[in-house]
Amino acid sequence: MQKPDCIFCKLANGEISTAMVYENDQIACFKDASPQAQTHVLIVPKQHYHDIEDLGRTAAGRDDAAAVLAAVPEIAAILGVGDSGYRVINNCGSGAGQTVFHVHFHLLSDPKLKDKLV
Ligand code: 5GP
Ligand code: ZN
Repeated sequence: MQKPDCIFCKLANGEISTAMVYENDQIACFKDASPQAQTHVLIVPKQHYHDIEDLGRTAAGRDDAAAVLAAVPEIAAILGVGDSGYRVINNCGSGAGQTVFHVHFHLLSDPKLKDKLV
C-alpha cells in the first residue's frame, strides 16, 4: 500500500520522476538529494512502511526486506563500490535521525568511512 503525500512512495513508484540507480517490482534505489558521502543512495521498498519495525512486522514486509538485501550487491556493483566497500544504514525513529518516515536504507561509500567507529 502507498501512503498519500509520502515523498518516498511517490519517488519509488515513479509519481515523481527521479533518476533510478536500480529498480525491480519490489524496491527502488535513487540518489540521496543531500549526499553525505562520495556515493550516497537510498534503497526503498515500493510499498509504504513507516520504519524498520513496521517492515519486520508482516510477512510481506519481511519479503520486501529480503528484496532490499538481495539487491544490495547488485546496486553496489552498479555504483562501482562493490570492491572498495560500502556501508548500509537504517535510522529508526527521530531520536536516531530518521527524518523521512518511509523506511529506507542508506548505501554510502567514501574513503573517509574507514576511519569511523561504526
Ligand atoms: P533519514 O534521515 O530519514 O535516515 O534519511 C532521509 C534522507 O532522505 C536524507 O539523507 C535526505 O537527504 C533524503 N531526502 C529527503 N527528501 C528527499 C527527496 O525528496 N529526494 C531524495 N532523493 N532524497 C531525499
Ligand atoms: Zn511511503
